[in-house]
Parts: sequence; C-alpha cells; structure tokens
Amino acid sequence: MARGGGGSDGHGEPGRGDNGSSWWLRAAAVGASLVIAGCSAAYLISRTRDRRRKPNDQKGAKEDLARVPRVRQRKLLPALFDEGCGLAIRKLMDTADVTSVAERLCLKDDHHLQDADALDPSSGSCIWVGTIEELWSLREDLRGEPEVSLDLEHHSWYSFRGTTCLLQVYIPSKRRGYLVDGLALRDEVGPCLGPMMRDPAVLKVVHGAGNDVLWLQRDFGCFLVNVFDTEVACKVLGKDKISLKHLLAEHFGVAKDSKYQKADWRVRPLPQDMASYAIRDACYLPKLKRALCKELLERSAASSANPTKFVLAYLKSQKVSLRVYKDTKRRPQDMAMGVLRKAKQRKWEGGKRVGLGRLVKVVEWRTKSAEECDVSMQAMLPDYAVAAVAAVAAVGGEGATEESVMEAAMRAVKEHDSPYLDTEIFEGNLRPRLAALVEAVAAPLGSGEGDQGGGGRMGGKVKDAKGKQRWLDHVERFRRKKPAYEQCKIYDMEGQLLCYCDQKKLAWYLKKKIAKQMPGEKDAVQLLFKHRSADQQSGESFYLESKANTCVACGEDRNFLKYHVIPKCYRQNFPLNLKSHRSHDIVLLCVRCHQIAAEAVERTKKEISEETGVPLNVHVDSNGRMREWTELKQAYKSAMTLASKTGLPRKRQAQLKSAIAEALGLTGGADDVDDSRVAEVISMSKSRGARKVVKELLAAMPPGEAERARAVCEGRESGQYLHGRMVVERLVGERGDDALLGLIVRFREAFVRALDPKFLPRSWSVEHDAKREFGDRSVYNEKNA
Ligand code: AMP
Ligand code: MN
Ligand code: ZN
Repeated sequence: MARGGGGSDGHGEPGRGDNGSSWWLRAAAVGASLVIAGCSAAYLISRTRDRRRKPNDQKGAKEDLARVPRVRQRKLLPALFDEGCGLAIRKLMDTADVTSVAERLCLKDDHHLQDADALDPSSGSCIWVGTIEELWSLREDLRGEPEVSLDLEHHSWYSFRGTTCLLQVYIPSKRRGYLVDGLALRDEVGPCLGPMMRDPAVLKVVHGAGNDVLWLQRDFGCFLVNVFDTEVACKVLGKDKISLKHLLAEHFGVAKDSKYQKADWRVRPLPQDMASYAIRDACYLPKLKRALCKELLERSAASSANPTKFVLAYLKSQKVSLRVYKDTKRRPQDMAMGVLRKAKQRKWEGGKRVGLGRLVKVVEWRTKSAEECDVSMQAMLPDYAVAAVAAVAAVGGEGATEESVMEAAMRAVKEHDSPYLDTEIFEGNLRPRLAALVEAVAAPLGSGEGDQGGGGRMGGKVKDAKGKQRWLDHVERFRRKKPAYEQCKIYDMEGQLLCYCDQKKLAWYLKKKIAKQMPGEKDAVQLLFKHRSADQQSGESFYLESKANTCVACGEDRNFLKYHVIPKCYRQNFPLNLKSHRSHDIVLLCVRCHQIAAEAVERTKKEISEETGVPLNVHVDSNGRMREWTELKQAYKSAMTLASKTGLPRKRQAQLKSAIAEALGLTGGADDVDDSRVAEVISMSKSRGARKVVKELLAAMPPGEAERARAVCEGRESGQYLHGRMVVERLVGERGDDALLGLIVRFREAFVRALDPKFLPRSWSVEHDAKREFGDRSVYNEKNA
C-alpha cells in the first residue's frame, strides 16, 4: 500500500470507535449546525473569466477535432488485476454498521468542510497533471489523506470502446484539486494512484460512479474500495432529483452547465472554462456527502428499519464499486431494432422501406469496421446513415453499388450535419470498406428477414390476390389489437426498479394498498412492503428487462400475438411454483411465426405421445383403457344417432349398439349398451350439441340411474387436457419435478429450432430456471392459496 504511516488497517473494524457508541448522533448534531455558505459569487467570477473558446459549439467542435491528439489504439488489459479488491469490498459490506460506516465516511474528521468559500476551484488551487513527475507529486500530496473525491471525463466518439480523458482528484482537507491527463498518462495512472484507490482506509467520494468505476478499470486498471456515492445516497433518501446539476444548485447555489458533459475532453491544452467545470464536478462532493449523511442519520434515527438508511446508502455505494468491466458488444439485432425504431420515429430517409434483416447486416459491418478503425459506431456510420444505406438495397431502392451506397451515406451525413462528425475522417474510414459494405447490404436475405411489406415466410411463394386477402383476414382476426407489454414499472421500497408489468397488475397493487403511486412518474408504483423474491432483486434479472412490442422471432412490430412456449395442456398441470405467471415462456410472435411455432409444438407433442404411450386426443373407455379419439369416433357417431333419431328400426338400433360395444370392448355385445352407456359415450365430446343430447338422455332416466350416469358423464375428462395431465403425472411419478423442467426445456428447444428467434430478451434462455420462490404476499405462495 502506498499510503504513508502504514495506518491503513483498523478501519472497517466495527466498534473500535473511541468516542463511545453514540458519537454519530453528535455527528448528526454537528451536521445540523453546519452553515453552508454559498459560493455562487466566486463561481460567477470563474465563469466569466474565459469565454473565448466554446468547444461544444457546432463549428468549434469540428475545428477542435483537427487539434486534438488522436487516441492511441490500445490493447485491453489482458486480465483485470483485481488483486482481491472484490473481497475487500465484500469485507467492508459484511462489517458495516452505523459506527464503522460513520468512521469510514470520515464524519469525525471532516470539520474543515465548514470552511465553504475555500472550496471554489477558482479561489483554491487547481493543478494540471500532465507528466509522470507531476503525477508522482500528486501521489505525495495524497499521502495520509483519509478522504478524496473523484470524477472522470470521457470521450466516446473517436475511439471504439471510449477513452478516459481526464481524472479529477480533489483533496478536501487541503482544498486542492488536480486534473490528471488521462490520455498522456494512460499507462501511469494505474501504477501510481491505484494503491490509493484500492486502499480501504481512503474514502473515495463520487457521484453516480457506475460508469466511472468501469472506465477506471478499463483504462487504468484501477479498482475503488471504500466509496460513497452521493447519487446512491439520494436514491436511498427517495429524492426525485438526483443529478449533480440539481444537487449543486440546491445545496450550494452553484449552476452547472450541461453543455460540458458532451464536450470533447481530448482538447489540449484544456481550456480554462473546461478545467473549472471539471474540478467543480469533484470539489463539492465531500460537502455534499456530509449534508446527505446528516439527512441519512436523521432518517435512520426516526425509523427502526434494519439496516438503517445510513448503512444502506453505504452498502449500495459499495455495490457500485463491485461492478466489473466486461468487453461486451451489443447484439446486432438489438442495434438494428434501435435504428429501425429511430428511423420510424424521426421519419428518416428509407425508414419506411428497410427491414430488420438488412439493417442487421449493415450493423454487423459497422461493428467490425468501427473496431478496425478504433472509432465509435456513430463515427463509423451514424444510425441515420445505416438506414439510408440499407434503403438503397431494399425493395424500391436504387440497388446497391459502391457509388449508390457512398452517395446515400454522404447525403445522410450532410443532411443531419452532426456537430461531432468530421466528414474527412468519416470518408477516409468508409472508402476502403465500401466493397464489404455493399456486399453486406446486397446479400440475399433468409426467410423472415425481408423488408417491410416484402414476401417473408410462407415458403416465399407469391400469393395470388385472393390468397393474399385470405391471409390478411387471418392476420386481422388473430393479431393483438393493443400492445402486449404495457411497460408499467414496479419499484421496491428503496426506489430500485423491480420489474415491469401491465396496468392490471398496477391497479391490483394499488387497490390492495400495498403499493403507492410513484411520485412524478406515470404508470409506476412503489411497493409498501419488502419484496423478497430473490430473482427479481438482482439487477440483471430477467424480469427487469423491458420488453419490446415486436415478434421475438423476426422482429416484425405489427400483427403479433402472445405465444405460450409450453403448451397449456401440460403447463396447466404443473405444480404452482412452475406455472405461475412465467413471463419468460410467454413471448410475442407475429401471426406468421406463430403458425410455424404451433406446427413445431404439434410435432413435439406427437413425439411425446409416442414415447409415453399417452394418445394426443385421449379418452378413457368404460373399461378404463386409454383410447385415441379416432378409434372411438365411430362409437360416438353411433351413439349420437341412437339418441337423437326417433323411430329407428329395431334392427338398426341393434346394429348401432353392437358397433358401440365393439368399439368399447364390451363383452356382452349390444345388450351391454343401455341409455347410461350411450350418454357416457356421447359425453366424450364437449361440444354443445353433445351436451344437449346428454342432458335430454339423463332427463328421461329414472332418478337413481340418472344420478349415477350424470356422475360418470361429468367426471369424464378427455382430449388434449387429459393427455397433458396423464403425461405430467407420469413424468412426475417417474422422475419428480425435474422431469417437468426437462419437458419445459424440450419445448423451448423446439421453439428455438423452429424459428431461430433473433429478438428474444437478452436473458431469455432455454435453461432458464423455471422454479420460483414466492414472497409472503404473493398469491402464488401456498400459504395464501
Ligand atoms: P459526469 O459524470 O457528468 O462527469 O460525466 C462523465 C462523462 O460521461 C462525460 O465526460 C461524458 O463523456 C459522459 N456524459 C455524461 N453525461 C452525458 C450526456 N448527457 N451525454 C453524453 N455523454 C455524457
Ligand atoms: Mn464530470
Ligand atoms: Zn415473426
């Protein structure tokens, strides 16, 4: 560890506080007496100082591009050297209580924070760190400091993965701010400042550091241990407005100009106004921390919740630092969907004509090319240009050649005139890859990948006018008339998003008074009880994903209906924990894909029927034997004739009865077939006609006999639902609930094989664990059943 004095252990041990166990209450009192002097006057002075350069103006930005250093193409760190940081963070979390957290948050030693006016970057010193020597003297200055605040500025345009341009470090006890050049010192920051960043004895105050944590790892190999995230604290306090901009205004009367968020932070030398903006993002954080901690402690004192909000804010802050950078790319399908959505909303050229399949191909080319050129996707080919290029090849387009594609791309770029895009760099990157792009755009598409209104499935056959009308009628009849996913939100008590649901469920929660309307948000509620379901709480869980109103197989965004991946006849007989609202296995399919999936299901059911020996349309005859409906159909017809036709000749009656006896395997022949038997046979069918006939037959019988016959007829379960029940019972009897999981997986596989769905939610999987635990209030909890 780099810190001097070697005193970095000991923090994190609960109960070590020498001031007695209730010192934090005093800390809260001190906080209450803090007078937070505004620094807006000093701030205004610094703002007016240098306004000559406006790097974020459209023109200014383009001029700057020529002057900024080109970001070095860099290797990703081969393996992130976490060096036990994850474990250290876990340890901090495991030992977090009010005392230890107050100590780790330096609430005792930060009285200098009262001295508010010295915090302003223009009156305090702000030091540029551009060389290794300067970096090491920053390290010297940090020696022994228990608290720093950090922020990063990032550039994502002319770099494939993005790059950290600036690291702001503020030392509150010295009121000194440092701006570290992340471009010049990319390889040095980690070795030099890494030890401080992972030292649990140094508190790192940050705001909304979800991205910063990842960028620090990716670019410098740095991990943070012991952080306090002021954004997380605001969330725990249930605040509505949690942007730093809002908080600086509210607490310090300081205005923050959002234009710098999108500034080009590669510019060197860094203009004065950008420098003061950058350090301002960091230098108020320690004071903000103090104010929020005071609020957290007050709220904790007034409630018996465990953990208290104060500790919870600390725990959740550590969770931010537990995030690990992964070099993942968005799926081309998702990106193509995004482009299509924007193209339609913003009425881009070609937006009406292009289909997803073609967009996917262009987007795949873009990802590959952007990585080669080390620029962002948008710098390689902006979304609007993707749509324009794909439209060239789509039906009604001019056809894809190198000229037409280049022309479409340049036209789109010119029309949209993005402030960042440098047309020279753009052309230079595009030209050598034009042939590959044309090949991608013009490639023939598979079924279901066609352009809007194109042929699509049905074997690619051109339908005649009558056939087409029939198909349209069919689609109209079956399609859902409103969006399937209403995307209403449910938040937990801490204000974290739990899951998405529909209006009906929202209304249910509100009516039961176990949730309240989420303030300031439409179609959202907050639960009033602690939600326990573990799989819904993990941030990455399936249930958190908002679902698109599109066919999960081909991406069509019209004419879809809900599809149950596991056929109802089986699912109906599953135990509760397997069959509750399984949104995982209910997906949207367009009418076409629905048909294809349904055929695949029938094939799988047939296989299952052959393997288990349970007929698909199963009936149990009077002798308790399982029979396929086709074998019994003749007997049913005979019975119907017998029952509904009056005045049949005696001979004809005997013939019909013998046929029934034979089909049912009755030994006594026609004599065994009386009215009860006839009713029983007819009741195999659940059709309205059959039920009417049965009713009439029963009415004509003597009371006792009618009673017995009714019991038989009504107790008769048949058809595919009986098939489902028998199969499920058989499987559970042989191998328990696991066998049902096997059945579930089998249908998911059949579904995937039949459609090769490209637009399933990312976390959808064939193996998705189908079991689910239910909370105390869930209607699926057996206690509440
Ligand atoms: P901040 O957390 O505000 O210091 O932002 C850090 C970096 O995130 C900035 O340098 C930008 O690269 C990026 N960033 C933040 N906000 C935005 C935004 N609204 N649009 C684009 N990029 C942003
Ligand atoms: Mn910032
Ligand atoms: Zn489809």
